Amino acid sequence: MSDGVILDARKVTKRFGGLVAVNEVDFDIPRRAIVSLIGPNGAGKTTFFNLIAGLFKPTTGSITFDGQRVDQRLMHQITHLGIARTFQNIRLFQNMTALENIMVGRHTRMHASPFAAILRLPSERREERATDARGREILAFVGLAGQEHEFAKNLPYGDQRRLEIGRALATEPKLLLLDEPTAGMNPLETARLTAFIRKLRDDLDVTILLIEHDMKVVMGISERVTVLDHGVKIAEGTPQVVQHDPRVIEAYLGRAKTA
Ligand code: ADP
Ligand code: MG
Repeated sequence: MSDGVILDARKVTKRFGGLVAVNEVDFDIPRRAIVSLIGPNGAGKTTFFNLIAGLFKPTTGSITFDGQRVDQRLMHQITHLGIARTFQNIRLFQNMTALENIMVGRHTRMHASPFAAILRLPSERREERATDARGREILAFVGLAGQEHEFAKNLPYGDQRRLEIGRALATEPKLLLLDEPTAGMNPLETARLTAFIRKLRDDLDVTILLIEHDMKVVMGISERVTVLDHGVKIAEGTPQVVQHDPRVIEAYLGRAKTA
């Protein structure tokens, strides 16, 4: 795999019983790019995310990340290699504080052994302090400075989405998967989050794969757009090209709701 490609999926298929949710999809992501995956509801976008993140294993096909095959690995191994994600439906620990939620992500990057953790050796205490400081930095970076001790459930919806991104960033990902990050946001929050996603890539050099239903966001931020329909890749290219592709228009117009 060339150095310029961080993720390379080849002929990836995922079946659920008789249903082919993802059908022989070839998909690569250039390093440091912002690329989007779009398609009508049920097209297979979230399933494809789950395959990359290791929640599902492909029925057939291969996924290579940063030069290593990852399609048979466990989810925590994939996290450790540098893939993090957020969920279409927010999954935070609602009764934990913002900082504690960040720490959950952070722990995958702590190196103290379980013994050190039990005995609370100096190495472990040092690591915990460093993690706390880093957690506060991450919260500030995602725009939640001063909210460290707020319970997740008390944060406004847009801030919960930011916290989820913060928790993903705490694992120090090279590739960040965002599943409909602006879902449920008003236009102002959406515009702010879009600018923030670009900043993430620019400041942290993280590669971003976005599933997004808001076409304005997709067209404004993506360097490349891939379109799935019924699990099949039907188009791929720049936002301008994809937008005018007759198959894409047909896929969207053929159904009531776009997603
Ligand atoms: P999208 O995110 O594009 O809306 P999904 O990937 O969620 O689409 O779903 C694609 C298809 O796979 C749908 O028909 C959905 O019902 C099915 N599907 C998704 N996850 C599962 C699962 N865990 N078990 C069975 N079917 C699933
Ligand atoms: Mg989905």
